[in-house]
Amino acid sequence: MITVTKPFLPDVEEFKKYVEQIWDNKMFTNGGPFVTKLESELAKIFGNENTICVTNGTIAIQVALLAFGITEGEIITTPFSYVATTSSILLEKLTPVFVDIDEDTLCIDANKIEEKITENTKAILAVHVFGIPCDIQAIEKIAKKHNIKVIYDAAHAFNAKYLNKSLLDYGDASTCSFHATKLYHTGEGGCIVFEDNDIFEKGELIRRFGHNGNDHLMLGTNAKMSELHASLGVLNLNYIDMIHSKRKEIYDTYFSNLNGVLKFQKQPKGYESNYAYVPVIFKSESELLKVEKALNENDIFPRRYFYPSLDSITYVNQTEPLPISAAISKSIMCLPLYVDLPKEDVIKICEIIKENL
Ligand SMILES: *Cc1c(COP(=O)(O)O)cnc(C)c1O
Repeated sequence: MITVTKPFLPDVEEFKKYVEQIWDNKMFTNGGPFVTKLESELAKIFGNENTICVTNGTIAIQVALLAFGITEGEIITTPFSYVATTSSILLEKLTPVFVDIDEDTLCIDANKIEEKITENTKAILAVHVFGIPCDIQAIEKIAKKHNIKVIYDAAHAFNAKYLNKSLLDYGDASTCSFHATKLYHTGEGGCIVFEDNDIFEKGELIRRFGHNGNDHLMLGTNAKMSELHASLGVLNLNYIDMIHSKRKEIYDTYFSNLNGVLKFQKQPKGYESNYAYVPVIFKSESELLKVEKALNENDIFPRRYFYPSLDSITYVNQTEPLPISAAISKSIMCLPLYVDLPKEDVIKICEIIKENL
C-alpha cells in the first residue's frame, strides 16, 4: 500500500541509546538536555536564537498569539490550510477573518488583505502553503502600515529557504509542526521562532504555565516538549540532508512526468524548495475523483489536502464567498511523497494519472 506520506524512521538502535540517556538522568521534561540541544540546533538552522520547542504546531500558534498579548479581536487568515490554522484562532476566542488565496501560489492573496482590516484587526496569520512562501514583502508592508502583527503558520516550511535564509525566520513569529507526518518530525511537536527578544521571553514563559517559582507572572499553559520527543528530534536532524535529497528526487520525477498535464503550484523567485508535498491541481473535481478512484484501486492513497475550504466548516460560521479557495480545495490533491518511496512507484502513479485524465 502506498499512502500519501510515511513518517521517517531512523534506526531504532540509535534511538535506544538516546532513550537510555533519558533513563540515566531521569529527566523527562522541563528544559532537559535534549530540548536544550534541539533548540540550539534549530536556532542555528533557522538563523534565529529566539526559538522554542513546544508540544505541537497547533499550540505553537496559540502560544504565539498569547505572547503578543492578543486576547480579543480579529485575525486575518487563509481559508486554504489545515484546520489547525483556524482552530487555534477560535480556541483563543478570536475571530478569523478570511481572505481568499492566490490561485497560483495558493497562499493568502496579499492584494485582498487591506480591505479586510478593521480597528479590531490584531494580526495576520498566513500560511506558507505546502512550504511555498506567501507574498512576504507585501504582507510586511501592510502590517507595518496598520500596526498589526504577522504570524506565519510555517508548519510546512522546515528546511525551505527564501532569499537565502530560512523561511522560519520571517514575520513577527513563525510556527512549525514536527508531527510524524511532516517532513521533519519529533513524533508530536512543534516550535516557535520569534523576531523580538522580549516577545520570545514571554512565549518561553507562557509555554511553562507563566510562572517562575512562586512568581506567577502571566497566564500560561503547558506547551513544553518532552525529552523523549526532543531526543527523536535531535536524532532525526542527522538525516535532514538525506531526507532533502531523496524528496527532491521523487518530486522531480513527478514534476517531469506531470508538469503540463496537471497544474503545479507556482514557486516565487528566490525560493529554495524543501519538497514537502506534491500538490497537483486538476481541471475539475470530477476529474480528480476519477483519478483518485483509479489510484485507490491500485492500492495508492493520495490525500485531498486541503479539503474542504476552512470557511465552509459549520462551526467556523462564515458566509462570505471565497471562490478561489472553494474551487482549488475541490480540485487539488497531494500525491504520495516519502523518503523510501521507490522511483518505479512514482512513475507508475504518474502513468495511472495520465491514463485516467
Ligand atoms: C500540521 C499542521 C498544523 C498543526 O500541527 P500539529 O503539530 O499537528 O498540531 C498547523 N498548520 C498546518 C498548516 C499544518 O499542516
